[in-house]
Amino acid sequence: MARKLAAGNWKMNGLAADLAEIDRLGAMLPDSGCDVLICPPATLVARMAERAGARILVGGQDCHAASSGAHTGDISAAMLRDAGASHVILGHSERRADHAETDAAVRSKALAAQAEGLVAIVCVGETEAQRDAGRAVEVIASQLEGALPDDPALLVIAYEPVWAIGTGRTPTEAEVAQVHSMMRATLARRFGAAADGVPLLYGGSVKPANAAQIFAIADVDGALVGGASLKADEFGAIVSALA
Ligand code: PEP
Repeated sequence: MARKLAAGNWKMNGLAADLAEIDRLGAMLPDSGCDVLICPPATLVARMAERAGARILVGGQDCHAASSGAHTGDISAAMLRDAGASHVILGHSERRADHAETDAAVRSKALAAQAEGLVAIVCVGETEAQRDAGRAVEVIASQLEGALPDDPALLVIAYEPVWAIGTGRTPTEAEVAQVHSMMRATLARRFGAAADGVPLLYGGSVKPANAAQIFAIADVDGALVGGASLKADEFGAIVSALA
């Protein structure tokens, strides 16, 4: 069985004053039942890690594939770990779109992250045009094929339909179940029995109102949450639905 994980992606949001949300979140979390992770912008990782306490894990939103060097503006997996991160989101659709990240690039980054002991959260998901063309499962399988790193023990997969991110729209339960079942089978072919321990997250417009329904779907081990992770009360309610 995979550990349950509620992961928040703050994206390019958050200043020092917003760290108060972490204090509020910490005060409302159940003691156990699932792992809780917040991935703030890189500027806040160290301060959040110092402030969060043991119950809240902290992660990055991207890392470079190289460990150091002449890459202005980038950060390495070692830097994230040094700042107190335990996880890093890789291949988010916004990075694939804004920075032309390929599956091969995502795999390189995930290998670098795992080499530093970070858990790589590899994001996959189809566009609306791909789903409308009946190609969703094929596209996601191909993304997994190209992007999967080598260590299943330091791996989380997030299924995030691009058209569901920030839109208030979600796939049907059957559509999520179909993708998650395919992802579990793909991981099993690659990693054998260890595939069962890889948490499979759903992401895309998860809110307190729909979280319990999404978490009841087979092979959904948690969520990657964007907008609703910015406010402690909303994210805390999502965590409670999972724990
Ligand atoms: C995300 O960006 O990973 C995401 C799922 O966003 P939202 O929850 O806002 O749809």
